[in-house]
Amino acid sequence: MNITKQSAAGHPDGLDMASFSQGLFIGGQWCAATGGGGIAVVDPSTETTLTSVADATVDDALAAVEAAAKAAPAWRDTAPRRRSEILRRCFELMTERSQMLATLISMENGKALRDAKGEVAYAAEFFRWNAEEAVRISGEFGMAPSGTNRIIVDYQPMGICVLITPWNFPAAMATRKIAPALAAGCTVILKPASVTPLTAYALAAIYAEAGVPAGVVNVLTTTNPGPVTSAMLSDPRVRKLSFTGSTGVGRSLLAEAARHVISCSMELGGNAPFVVFDDADLETALDGAMVAKMRNAGEACTAANRLYVQSGIHDAFVAGLAARMQALAVGPGTDSATECGPMITRKAVDKIARLVADARDRGAQVVCGGEAPTGKGFFYPPTVLSGVPMEAEMAHEEIFGPVAPVYRFDTEEEAIARANDTEYGLAAYIFSRDLARAMRVAGRIEAGMIAINRGLVSDPAAPFGGVKQSGLGREGGQHHGISEFMEAKYIAATF
Ligand code: NAP
Repeated sequence: MNITKQSAAGHPDGLDMASFSQGLFIGGQWCAATGGGGIAVVDPSTETTLTSVADATVDDALAAVEAAAKAAPAWRDTAPRRRSEILRRCFELMTERSQMLATLISMENGKALRDAKGEVAYAAEFFRWNAEEAVRISGEFGMAPSGTNRIIVDYQPMGICVLITPWNFPAAMATRKIAPALAAGCTVILKPASVTPLTAYALAAIYAEAGVPAGVVNVLTTTNPGPVTSAMLSDPRVRKLSFTGSTGVGRSLLAEAARHVISCSMELGGNAPFVVFDDADLETALDGAMVAKMRNAGEACTAANRLYVQSGIHDAFVAGLAARMQALAVGPGTDSATECGPMITRKAVDKIARLVADARDRGAQVVCGGEAPTGKGFFYPPTVLSGVPMEAEMAHEEIFGPVAPVYRFDTEEEAIARANDTEYGLAAYIFSRDLARAMRVAGRIEAGMIAINRGLVSDPAAPFGGVKQSGLGREGGQHHGISEFMEAKYIAATF
């Protein structure tokens, strides 16, 4: 595939869609799926088909495991410094081609170009960060308490890893796994979401150009994820499953992995509370809400899903939020003026419309938005609801769209109790000028990540992940992300 070179100019017309039909990326080769099937990739802004990609079978998946196994010994033995240089080159090439990659993400996912550019920068950073981590893997050496021997602990790559990613960040969810896996010395098979496969394939071409050896990264797309994943996990050479997606699919994959005793990292769903106290700076809270709610048009696991606002600031917050939401430019993601692109599928729009109708029926007021437009494209308008009762379905379900439900609260205790009233625990946001209060509340909210007076929490240099039903393990951060792909080997030595 020569898409990366052809498309350096960055204009959508420069993207050669036909080159994506070259097939799966296995063992450094582009190959057709053995079943001969294809998957249509749809532009969510227009509902037209962009291109199609190969539809992998179980046989293709097993061929990918074989390729990853063949490449494993040489990659494991490649000097960390060399692995680091290759990862660094991936970062550089992604950065050089950021315009093209952002356009591709906008085309297949629908997100606004400004969000897509942010995603590419974030995604590339995982390569730079892990290039630096690759040469910092160290072990432990010490005397056993009995004095009879030394305890040596060596950290080794786990081996072959199956990586499964969702559609909402087609680049970043993949690089957040691939970069630490490669830094640790593992080989991988990536199965991206079937609705957004193009970015994963474009990145595969970049990895090869950067010097990642054949078979170290394999990419396959399929409409049959259950059996294809099951076949890979059944191969005893596969030692790791790293999954990002919904809690429901995560649970079934954990059960599958348990049968083979495979190490699992799970980045699952969210239902983030966004808590604004009376003593917050209103403009800071509104800025934060626009980022936490509207980055990616609300299609983010960290998206503010429940906005709890204290009574004294509630009305001003709702008015300010509605004004900002109404001012957003809605349109095709690839249009540079767009601030809110379409949802990923018609099904996603229908789910959001159902949640809004349910809240309205239970007494919520629609302050702005609330009606899906007719015509082509999976659009839903930026929407603010107030007076949402706690019984509303959206208080408990991920909305995954541009809808901000505001709930009023009175006391700190009440805010904490309501924030924790969910099975999820991924991210949470707190706004207050009283740092002691913000830290106290941060300590009591059950979430893996807390943002104070800001709407963005993700950072490759910090451990990303959730508690409760939001997942197991961490990605990124000092040692956290890379250690998910390494195993400790203990050696007792007498000398
Ligand atoms: P999803 O339906 O769970 O799909 C995620 C991935 O799993 C896709 O590649 C999908 O393939 C695959 N998959 C589906 N069924 C499978 C099966 N039986 N066996 C193996 N793989 C299977 O989730 P999504 O709708 O794409 O993504 C949205 C969800 O992801 C939200 O809940 C969001 O919160 C979560 N998310 C979490 C994080 C985090 O870091 N915690 C980050 C982003 C998103 P197909 O595309 O072919 O269905």
